Amino acid sequence: MSAPQPPVPQPSAPASQHSVPQPSVPQPSAPGSRPPVSVLGLGMMGSALAAAFLAAGHPVTVWNRTRSKTGPLVAQGAVPAGSAAEAVTGGGLAVVCLMTNDNVRELLDSLGESPVGRTVVNLTNGTPAQARELAARATELGIRYIDGGIMAVPQMIGGPHAYVLYSGDEQAFETHRPTLAALGGTTFTGADPGLASLHDLALLTGMYGMVVGVLQAYALVRTEGISATDFSELLVPWVGAMLSGAPQWAAAVDSDEHLTDVSSLAVNQAAVPNFLAAFRDQGITTEFFEPLKAILDRAIEEGHADDGLSRLVDLMRA
Ligand code: NDP
Repeated sequence: MSAPQPPVPQPSAPASQHSVPQPSVPQPSAPGSRPPVSVLGLGMMGSALAAAFLAAGHPVTVWNRTRSKTGPLVAQGAVPAGSAAEAVTGGGLAVVCLMTNDNVRELLDSLGESPVGRTVVNLTNGTPAQARELAARATELGIRYIDGGIMAVPQMIGGPHAYVLYSGDEQAFETHRPTLAALGGTTFTGADPGLASLHDLALLTGMYGMVVGVLQAYALVRTEGISATDFSELLVPWVGAMLSGAPQWAAAVDSDEHLTDVSSLAVNQAAVPNFLAAFRDQGITTEFFEPLKAILDRAIEEGHADDGLSRLVDLMRA
């Protein structure tokens, strides 16, 4: 899967646990002093991670379930491990990037007694609850566990716009931060191992909301033969201008002050049926927008007609 490019992070000082974490600028180690790294999982992302460590001068050990995928990295100087346990015990920091956290759990369970004292950084996509479970299992095994969320596609890894969110064992993270900087910016989100995943999923939630809206807009204009490419010239600045209001929505959410002089929920509730009707008239799906109508209707029923859209955050609690 090729995900859209995440926003360009603005480097700044590392954040405290209670503020919004910001990526730090990659700080490579001095030449000749780079510690060894193992990379477990050599799919599109894992291969990019291993290549970035190699490019930064780290000795790299690689392991993949399908051994043939180690070939290109071995050709670049990586050393293939005979087993996952060998990779974790023999190569310093172990960076894991598999398809799912179930795969990671199986991998941890296959390590036996050997990994005691090792540090594992798990960059597999997953949920906060999965990260906490894996951290607990790693602790049972004597492993220092760091969870992570990659805010980049493979082609961006090691480049100026990539960054990775981390959470979990902070001391281990600080020890290995210079090594992890080979992948891009390093953003520590807190000692709770679930926090990197939470931030990752929240950032991707914003992205998917934008993607769904943009694709629905293209579908709508295409019903009249209008070029999506031409329409994008109108859409991109419009969406960008609307997104610039996000800090004001955030202030309303944080202060729980939702009264608005911009556009009330009543106005939005009156307008959204027009979108649904137009989609039907033009022959495109309403399935992405039906939930928007439902939550607006509920907001009005619950007495929030004069509030702005920021009020919907309250109604999103399941
Ligand atoms: P790929 O499909 O390219 O690779 C999947 C990897 O998982 C392979 O190494 C595969 O091994 C391994 N794997 C799958 N099942 C098992 C298993 N049961 N036991 C051991 N290993 C297994 O995926 P990506 O590399 O693209 O993605 C990996 C992770 O990175 C995912 O969690 C993804 O969400 C995340 N990610 C990916 C991004 C991207 O743009 N690609 C962006 C950000 C995060 P084998 O070769 O043997 O099949």
